Amino acid sequence: MPSSAHPTAPSANIAKIRERERVRVRRPSREEALDAVRTLIRWAGDDPTREGLIGTPDRVVRSYAEFFSGYDEDPVALLQRTFEETDGYDEIVMLKDIRFESHCEHHIAPIIGKVHIAYLPSNRVVGISKLARLVEVYAKRLQIQEKMTAQIANTLDEVLQPKGVAVVIEAAHQCMTTRGVHKPGVSMVTSRMLGVFRADPTTRREVLTMIGTPGSGSSEHV
Ligand SMILES: [Zn+2]
Repeated sequence: MPSSAHPTAPSANIAKIRERERVRVRRPSREEALDAVRTLIRWAGDDPTREGLIGTPDRVVRSYAEFFSGYDEDPVALLQRTFEETDGYDEIVMLKDIRFESHCEHHIAPIIGKVHIAYLPSNRVVGISKLARLVEVYAKRLQIQEKMTAQIANTLDEVLQPKGVAVVIEAAHQCMTTRGVHKPGVSMVTSRMLGVFRADPTTRREVLTMIGTPGSGSSEHV
């Protein structure tokens, strides 16, 4: 990777993202969170003081810290260091099959799938691992797939300001497979196209061909 790193993105865009990101809740104490898990165990019909369940609230609370660590991450800081020495590279950059685990905000049930991210650089490129970390920032929150798709695309667009951004997500929702309508093997596909990928059908076809047909071939479904 070339060595020159530059901060990017106009401050208006950054302010917009920071406003979207602002969390407006008071976090409960750890003890309150443990009590809430004990309440849910009783709601399920079991005794939170029996031996097998005694350590469960602690494990659940620690799991939540991991499942929802994205609220403490700053997507702007993540993407702000970019590289300009691209030697005139002006073709699509794509990271495919980024596996993610998220939780649906309607049932707090797992959503497991993969994200494909592509952008057409405008002089600047971002380190490829940053794209994977951007997925983590938004996956590790309570989500709906459509919102996560838009958040990844919009943030990349606003911070990096490329000529175009394409984000496609295919995922299985365990709130559908393990409860409710019980339909295993179903995956949901969402996409958000910005810039040239939205405006120019040829460029959009090119990026969709690179991604391949979601739901076929190499895709694993849960
Ligand atoms: Zn759900």
